[in-house]
Amino acid sequence: MAIATINPTTGQVEKTFEAHDDAEVDRRIAEAQAAFEALKDTTFAQRAEWMNKAAQLLEDDADELGRLITIEMGRPIAAARAEVLKCAKGLRFYAENAEEFLAPEQLADPAKVNASAAGTRYAPIGIVLAVMPWNYPLWQVLRFAGPALMAGNVGLLKHASNVPQAALYLDTLFDRAGFPSGAFRTLLIPASRVESVLRDPRIKATTLTGSEPAGRSLASIAGSEVKHVVLELGGSDPFVVMPSADLEKATTVGVTARNQNNGQSCIAAKRFIVHADVYDEFVRLFTEKVAALTVGDPLDESTDVGPVATESGRDELESQVADAVAKGATVRTGGTVPDRDGWFFEPTVLEGITPEMRLYLEEAFGPVASIYRVASREEAAAVANGTTFGLSSAVWTTDADEQEWFINRLDAGAVFVNGMTASFPELPFGGVKDSGVGRELAAAGIREFCNLKTVWKG
Ligand code: NAP
Repeated sequence: MAIATINPTTGQVEKTFEAHDDAEVDRRIAEAQAAFEALKDTTFAQRAEWMNKAAQLLEDDADELGRLITIEMGRPIAAARAEVLKCAKGLRFYAENAEEFLAPEQLADPAKVNASAAGTRYAPIGIVLAVMPWNYPLWQVLRFAGPALMAGNVGLLKHASNVPQAALYLDTLFDRAGFPSGAFRTLLIPASRVESVLRDPRIKATTLTGSEPAGRSLASIAGSEVKHVVLELGGSDPFVVMPSADLEKATTVGVTARNQNNGQSCIAAKRFIVHADVYDEFVRLFTEKVAALTVGDPLDESTDVGPVATESGRDELESQVADAVAKGATVRTGGTVPDRDGWFFEPTVLEGITPEMRLYLEEAFGPVASIYRVASREEAAAVANGTTFGLSSAVWTTDADEQEWFINRLDAGAVFVNGMTASFPELPFGGVKDSGVGRELAAAGIREFCNLKTVWKG
């Protein structure tokens, strides 16, 4: 894939970029290594000051950056600006909490291990290679970079090839904030050159947010090099609705959960699993609200749903829906590519998805919702757990016992009760099964790329 900004609203190429050659990549790795050495002499307080400055820069640039995101990947403008501000909040969170998350721990009774003192410390490990997707082009990167730099690590970013301008903004952000030069840098390279970078002995670990095939490939290389890996991969999250649910609220939230970011969120609710007692009413309300969404130019403040980010992504969605329809699924609304420029797909509601259809197991990365009818909570959990993914999940019920039952039964990295899944700096984020390994955010996220060093003193 060319490294280029191609506006998904128009399909026009806005700007193309030359990939960095091997010498430039090597120079950037060396610069990152030098920055890591320089960071060893800094305190949490110093790094927090720079991190807060980076947050301030993001806030100052929010309007311009929001517009850039919208042009590069089609996210509606208000949500794009909100993404920038969320990033600033995330960086400030780690500026404030990193030292506490990484505080040394002492054994209360060191004599038990024949020591005068013993315990653990979190030590930084060095350069971490971050391979990132386009769908939240700043947030996905900064939720890694904030904790990494606060821990004293440094980062090299291989961003998705369709968001090079976001990647280049991030290339200078932490320099501008005061961090040692090279503490966080972009490598403008295609996916095919990730392997050689990851095999470089100066790279100590890697994190990838993206598709399952990319994650498997990166993890196998990391495995062969015995390097730590964190994977945040795809999802086909269930959104379970039981008879006691507030249907008005569940459908309003469900429409947002499915269609925000033009349906391209890993933690979007993708499969709506609804109890038979409330099924018809749920489908009626949900379909009505999806059909009322405003599809249009994402630079227009009133747009709810813009285009899918890439032409291939739109084509994939179209073929998944066509496959379902050919095998007997019912389209309640949408289902087609509108006759206009750019890579739009109508917000779609499907019923009657069966196991032989692709959508039964595959992730739909765009505004396509599948609704399933179930007769019991056991059947709901079986359908919910019936894919290879396990990122997040949502369950709507006001029955306290039922809430606990689903929290225990759903195989996912998170369960949200009577709400939609979202990521918060304060809460760990990650999946099970083919949705990934490891966690980002909260204390768990910053500890992922640390050496938990045992210290024993005689
Ligand atoms: P993708 O194709 O996997 O791309 C993601 C990143 O990986 C890009 O930088 C891409 O570079 C790179 N890449 C692709 N193949 C690679 C390989 N074989 N080796 C090394 N790097 C490789 O993902 P996408 O389709 O753009 O993004 C959508 C997917 O990401 C969905 O499945 C979504 O659910 C998932 N996602 C997960 C999370 C989460 O937190 N769990 C968050 C957001 C998105 P190029 O652009 O140069 O190909």
